Amino acid sequence: MTVMDLLKKIFLVEILKGMAVTLKQFFTPAVTRQYPKEKREPFIGSRGLHALVRDSNSGKEKCVGCGLCAAMCPSECIHIYTSEGDDNEKVVDRYEIDLLRCVFCGLCVEACPYAALVQTEHFEYSGYTRAEFYYTKDRLLENWDKYMAGDKGRKYIDLFWRPRSSDFEKKSKSEQDRSKA
Ligand code: SF4
Ligand code: SF4
Repeated sequence: MTVMDLLKKIFLVEILKGMAVTLKQFFTPAVTRQYPKEKREPFIGSRGLHALVRDSNSGKEKCVGCGLCAAMCPSECIHIYTSEGDDNEKVVDRYEIDLLRCVFCGLCVEACPYAALVQTEHFEYSGYTRAEFYYTKDRLLENWDKYMAGDKGRKYIDLFWRPRSSDFEKKSKSEQDRSKA
């Protein structure tokens, strides 16, 4: 041990340094937000409440009942019931999400090949019964109308829905460039 180390030990230098750091915190402004008085602005792309996308032409859900979202869901909280329609197309009779089991991972949204399911930025909801957190197809479509209607929904899909056909065009162009080189 050097003389300097010995002096540091005698005068408790390290402890005093630590206490100085603690003391400094008394005079720095708190970073904690006093929710709900202070709120951070929600931003598009937050993983909030789910919504089923409503087709602007037909007014119905875009979901075709393929079940990929349910297959990807690690919490197994998506339940889809389909039947066969008049012209042999699949009809989504029920589409339900049990939000109390959901971990808001977003895998269902990423898995959907039709951009038919999104997560809105709405996160402030509460309830007194389990039923209030059981989102049926109608309630999920209402969420779209409430939180994503108009340009907002289009912007969300433009920003986050991948892959798009344009991505493959770009990829094949870059592959062509590479093969020329
Ligand atoms: S966000 Fe995750 S846990 Fe919730 S429904 Fe989608 S896949 Fe399931
Ligand atoms: S993956 Fe998309 S289209 Fe398929 S069932 Fe889920 S929400 Fe509907």
